[in-house]
Amino acid sequence: MAMAILATPGCNMLVPRPGFPLYKTLSSMIGVQIRYYNLLPERNWQIDIDDLESKIDRNTVAIIYNNPSNPCGSVFPENHIRQVLDVAERYHIPIIADEIYENIVFPGHEFRAIASLTDEVPVFHCSGTTKKFLIPGWRLGWIAINDKKDRFGIDIRTGLNSLAQRIIGPNSLIQGAIGRILTKTPKSFFDEIIANVHVIMI
Ligand SMILES: *Cc1c(COP(=O)(O)O)cnc(C)c1O
Repeated sequence: MAMAILATPGCNMLVPRPGFPLYKTLSSMIGVQIRYYNLLPERNWQIDIDDLESKIDRNTVAIIYNNPSNPCGSVFPENHIRQVLDVAERYHIPIIADEIYENIVFPGHEFRAIASLTDEVPVFHCSGTTKKFLIPGWRLGWIAINDKKDRFGIDIRTGLNSLAQRIIGPNSLIQGAIGRILTKTPKSFFDEIIANVHVIMI
């Protein structure tokens, strides 16, 4: 939905490499050209900022950004996130932030939401229940629109609502339960998930 709402005829979007293959799959469905920007293994899979910048042209309508990273497992430090924002701000390009792993962060790392570090760059924060609760089959996620200077304009919300009607994703039982799921689940539940997943990883 985030990609579709920003797509224009002839546009391209920048996508991390290595990255989540679904971005490419979805792009062909909505007529978006994908351009890859590199992640650097020798720098904990941070974004090659020069490469990112070199892939931008006048038809670039979004930077797709994924932190924490699937498949790299990296969690970007704040100074690196600011470098990405600096590029987006200079070229006036919104960011689609796939931050679905925001809650699966192991001890010693700290997640910062990219939207929390900018007033200038419009950001779609995309997340959901899949990873936090380990329930991929529920198909329940959300887009938080962060656009403090109202650069998107009002149409973006209307458009996203229309696209949601088209997808009719999660069933109404789960939609009804989500408020309690998000607010009433005890912290111990998440601590246990992190502890278990961490043990499996090491
Ligand atoms: C799992 C995942 C998603 C969302 O997956 P759903 O199963 O559709 O909730 C999105 N981006 C990345 C990088 C993921 O790993």
